[in-house]
Amino acid sequence: MVDTMRAERFYVDSKTIAVEDVPVPEPGLGEVLVKVAFCGICHSDLSLINGTFPPQQPVVTQGHEASGTIAKLGPDVTGWAEGDRVIVAAGRPCLTCANCLRGDVANCLRLQLMAFAYDGAWAEYTVAQAIGLTRVPDNVPLEQAAILADAVSTPFGAVVRTGRVGIGESIGVWGIGGIGTHIVQLARLVGAVPVIAVDIKPAVLDRALELGADYAFEAATPRCGTRSPRSPTAASSMSRSTRSV
Ligand SMILES: [Zn+2]
Ligand SMILES: [Zn+2]
Repeated sequence: MVDTMRAERFYVDSKTIAVEDVPVPEPGLGEVLVKVAFCGICHSDLSLINGTFPPQQPVVTQGHEASGTIAKLGPDVTGWAEGDRVIVAAGRPCLTCANCLRGDVANCLRLQLMAFAYDGAWAEYTVAQAIGLTRVPDNVPLEQAAILADAVSTPFGAVVRTGRVGIGESIGVWGIGGIGTHIVQLARLVGAVPVIAVDIKPAVLDRALELGADYAFEAATPRCGTRSPRSPTAASSMSRSTRSV
């Protein structure tokens, strides 16, 4: 196994990024080393670079939407083997707060965000807690699995857990970008009717209709101050054909 790897590094002081050779991280207790196959680009990665997202480390490797294969097991890891295809959780519980000590790690009081509080996966390897891994079936390509880590799991939590959207309930989605596009699809999967998409870009509204939205509306913009429905008739006929598939 090699000792060094290439990794993207973001420097807060100069707001610059560089690709550098750094040591391959060593998995600690309960952790695994993952050979990164793919890692998405999240808007929050870009927000860290342009300064709108507050930095948590002076230098950090970015990227928190990663898929790959396990390259090495740390001490006390059970249930996983080298070569297993996995998605890495985009954050890690502290394991020391009151909730973590009760075993309620999902509600950790000091949750650390991958690629902000600790090094991410725009690198050849990344270290992850074994308890945060998700197994990827052989029939799911790793390039598709990577976005499940954030761009799909976050809207899944919003629709299924937080919103508890049910069959026949109406849902409005403002902003049909990476997250919103998946909210539209997940809302459709759980049986929401109608699914209403709102955005300022016609192209993403057309995409929302193709992916299962019943209606799509252009949001009023501060510039023109008008609201223009996007042909509800065409929208509903398109949604009927989508639903019949
Ligand atoms: Zn993200
Ligand atoms: Zn905790």
